[in-house]
Amino acid sequence: MASVLTQAPPAADDAPKAKSREAAITSVLHPQESAAPLTDGFHLVIDALKLNDLNTIFGLVGIPITDLARLAQGEGMRFIGFRHEQHAGNAAAIAGYMTQKPGICMTVSAPGFLNGLTALANATTNCFPMILISGSSEREIVDLQQGDYEEMDQLNAAKPYAKAAYRVLHAEDIGIGVARAIRAAVSGRPGGVYLDLPAKLLAQTMDAARGKQSLVKVVDAVPRQIPAADSVRRALDLLKSAKRPLILLGKGAAYAQADAEIRALVEKTGIPYLPMSMAKGLLPDTHEQSAGAARSFVLAEADVVMLIGARLNWLLSHGKGKTWGGPKQFIQLDIAPTEIDSNVAIAAPVIGDIGSSVSALLAGIGSGFPKPSAEWTGAIAERKDKNLKKMAVTLAQNPSPMNFHSALRAIRDVLKTRPDINVVNEGANTLDYCRSIVDMYEPRKRFDSGTWGIMGIGMGYAIGAAVVSGKPVVAIEGDSAFGFSGMELETICRYELPVCTIVFNNNGVYRGTDVNLSGGKDVAPTVFVKGARYDKMIEAFGGIGYNATTPEELTKALLESIASGKPSLINAVIDEAAGTESGRLTNLNPQSAAKK
Ligand code: ADP
Repeated sequence: MASVLTQAPPAADDAPKAKSREAAITSVLHPQESAAPLTDGFHLVIDALKLNDLNTIFGLVGIPITDLARLAQGEGMRFIGFRHEQHAGNAAAIAGYMTQKPGICMTVSAPGFLNGLTALANATTNCFPMILISGSSEREIVDLQQGDYEEMDQLNAAKPYAKAAYRVLHAEDIGIGVARAIRAAVSGRPGGVYLDLPAKLLAQTMDAARGKQSLVKVVDAVPRQIPAADSVRRALDLLKSAKRPLILLGKGAAYAQADAEIRALVEKTGIPYLPMSMAKGLLPDTHEQSAGAARSFVLAEADVVMLIGARLNWLLSHGKGKTWGGPKQFIQLDIAPTEIDSNVAIAAPVIGDIGSSVSALLAGIGSGFPKPSAEWTGAIAERKDKNLKKMAVTLAQNPSPMNFHSALRAIRDVLKTRPDINVVNEGANTLDYCRSIVDMYEPRKRFDSGTWGIMGIGMGYAIGAAVVSGKPVVAIEGDSAFGFSGMELETICRYELPVCTIVFNNNGVYRGTDVNLSGGKDVAPTVFVKGARYDKMIEAFGGIGYNATTPEELTKALLESIASGKPSLINAVIDEAAGTESGRLTNLNPQSAAKK
């Protein structure tokens, strides 16, 4: 490690302004050899990323990557520095989801790497492309377990949680290492890739011309994968035979950026569709074919279900049981052949990229494709109408203090006027209610707890979304969920990002009214400080804080915040008795499950 620090190339301040970059490196690292232009590991990593249009790094500096971050910024890359690596990783992951290019996260060794690994695992689970680049200690010492500074076998630690993991040992292999990481992250089913860069590698020097030649610009990183004609025919035959067809859109469909084709398929067939939470907005939630407000009904009643970029995991009750009612036949469009039959038998798999598969289906539909019966669409419309009327009554109430519904009504009405705004959403009740109350109108604008149903993605996703889109972000957060990443408010303020965080503050996890079962002095495990003022946190960093106790105050604060484009936080005071255990996941709590 010491060699890196003492031999590190010059910091951006005194670096390559006057002389050429190669000459500067050469004269600092090898003053006696200034004739032969050199490059080094630091610059090769930067050049390899830039060559592949990867120009933003989300990270956190420290040994051995501080100079890498400085130099990257010096070379025109954007470096967004975080307060904790997990959130930098989450920002990179959501950037990958939004752009189809791997988001880059950079961390220090051992603990920094492990913090980033949580985000890498989450990215892999959600099929988001990202690359976690971590500095590491020297192989010789790590492998003999001789106790290096932050010693850890990071490559092996990453492997089970990443789609792929690579280590580069020689400067001349950096180009290939970065190319392999990019291709692994974005091709096929996207995922998280780990790239291990030992400190010594960064300081290695080599001839600059040879270094340049060693870089790889990845050609066709996401090749189209055309589905087989017979699989398309099989799917169309099954769809044609359906009496009660349903299309289920998942976040894989949103990721694929085949928005026009998907819309055309839905509208041409006239089949009702259900969006999974991050596919909301792929078609506007107000679309007349959306069966969102009749979800339980259509899942139970449909006879043929076409899954487009959605997995039959726990979020869809594994495709069986009470939720799914009578017998079903499934068509599944996915890029990963091993996803097929993962939970139930799939009658018609279509393996390919979603853009190509949907186009092939569209081409095969022709003009005589039978529309779903009026009986089926009429029954759905009736159920939707009934549920929406019931929801309207609940939403019209104005309890004091606010509850989840009245606060979300206020937010919904503001967001309706700004469909371009990115929405981040996490929590238990805050997530569940927001998903069904706040409509989305544009694709890839909703980012939430995802496949794991986790807490902690909030500020990382908000920062990633703001940086990538340049558009405002509204992060709708349960008070417990917000706590995992709250310190990143400083990051939001430092980079002056247009992020408005709304904390649904009901004094605790799920709610704030639980009592200590022993009658002792400590509060119950689910209870937080009562009446906390989260708005004061952002004021500490120069952002704007609001305290909202009514829907009117919430509306005013949100409108003001969006208009200002400034970092802000609204502490939305919610009735502490509102909220149910684990939101809608009550059945997953062992005690509740045992009672069933
Ligand atoms: P949701 O949580 O919205 O149901 P999932 O993350 O479970 O969605 O499913 C996404 C699916 O989409 C994954 O099985 C993944 O393999 C697939 N997928 C991702 N990108 C593509 C693509 N470009 N083409 C086809 N399938 C894709």
